[in-house]
Amino acid sequence: MNFHSMSADQLRDTQADLQKRYEALCAAGLSLNLTRGKPAPDQLDLSEELLALPGVGNHTSPDGTDCRNYGGVAGLPALREIFGELLGTGADRIVAQNNASLQIMHDLTVFALLGGTPDSEHPWSKHDSPIKFLCPAPGYDRHFAITEQYGIEMITVPMNPDGPDVEACAELVADDPSIKGMWVVPTYSNPTGYSVSEEVARALVAMPTAAPDFRIYWDNAYAVHTLVEETPTPLPILDLAAEAGHPNRVYVFGSTSKITFAGGGVAFFGSSPENLDWYTGHASIATIGPDKLNQLRHLQFFGDADGVRAHMARHRALIAPKFELVLQILEDRLGASKIAHWTEPEGGYFISLDVIDGTAARTVSLAKQAGIALTGAGATFPYKNDPHDRNIRLAPTFPPIDELATAMDGVATCALLAATEKLLDLA
Ligand code: PMP
Repeated sequence: MNFHSMSADQLRDTQADLQKRYEALCAAGLSLNLTRGKPAPDQLDLSEELLALPGVGNHTSPDGTDCRNYGGVAGLPALREIFGELLGTGADRIVAQNNASLQIMHDLTVFALLGGTPDSEHPWSKHDSPIKFLCPAPGYDRHFAITEQYGIEMITVPMNPDGPDVEACAELVADDPSIKGMWVVPTYSNPTGYSVSEEVARALVAMPTAAPDFRIYWDNAYAVHTLVEETPTPLPILDLAAEAGHPNRVYVFGSTSKITFAGGGVAFFGSSPENLDWYTGHASIATIGPDKLNQLRHLQFFGDADGVRAHMARHRALIAPKFELVLQILEDRLGASKIAHWTEPEGGYFISLDVIDGTAARTVSLAKQAGIALTGAGATFPYKNDPHDRNIRLAPTFPPIDELATAMDGVATCALLAATEKLLDLA
């Protein structure tokens, strides 16, 4: 029954039932974890063959590079060909690096702070007032951690089903030269699963900005991570930016962290030739070249872009049932009560659950006491501050399916119990 139309007595009865259910949950002594979007061991097993590649005597890439040696800061051309296609940049506007795209995002930010970008009048750290980034939220906590770490002020903008609220963004960047960048996850966004529409993408790359060195961090981490048959075609965002007269505005990121091994994949950075020269100029001071042997083994493992797509279909077979299960439990347990909304993503790694305003932190804390770890309430907002205390990020991939069912059922009990407390408070 809809909790919002219950009388105080009905709410109290419901709460008493839920309290019993919650006590039973606590007594079960669970230790379950729904916090991080990690691939499960059976997903990692899909790439086990990588561990035997490239193999003894097999160290030369198709372009003749001896991958055992130093050099090649841009990474192997044949692998750039594959991910240039999958990320929509083309091979000549992408570099292949080491295992973490987050590190590239971090380094680009630090390079800009210390030395400025090719379009900067001075280093970002020398700006006459603290610089700022736009942060579509709910969003990815580790993005926000990078900007927070370096004292970059974060401005929350709404994340809509078709992407960041572009009108709000355009208004903010038009007059404020201290707004230097924004975070965007364009495909199956973390945590909502929303994807940026072409219309919104065009508006983002075209909007006039007071800062000449404004950058969009276009983190396409889930470009090929679909839960449905078809892999979406990536927007040619670098071309769109160039057509709009802002060829240097966009940084594209991707990695194989959730394709092969989260701890041993290959990360990619795509941008304009000028930005890539600037980046590789800095990167080649830090390293005499990336791990090309890992790149070679990835190349041999995939073969081509279709090899990646076929591999992602195998992931889908493992994780789609987990997403279906979570959605089913949410519907069965929370649907009628109308105390929550959730996203039904077609890809990515998360489901975003919105509970009654003011009850997300309570839900997470009740779950914790019952032995179910959830991502901290607020984590999906800058400064961990969800102004409505309503958003919870659910990560269904890692736990085995039976544990996932127990954990989600428990989360639902906690959300319902927190809702009765809140509604009785208000009654
Ligand atoms: N970007 C997003 C949006 C992510 O969700 C994740 C992983 N949770 C990453 C980047 C991390 O990528 P990498 O392993 O390449 O650093």
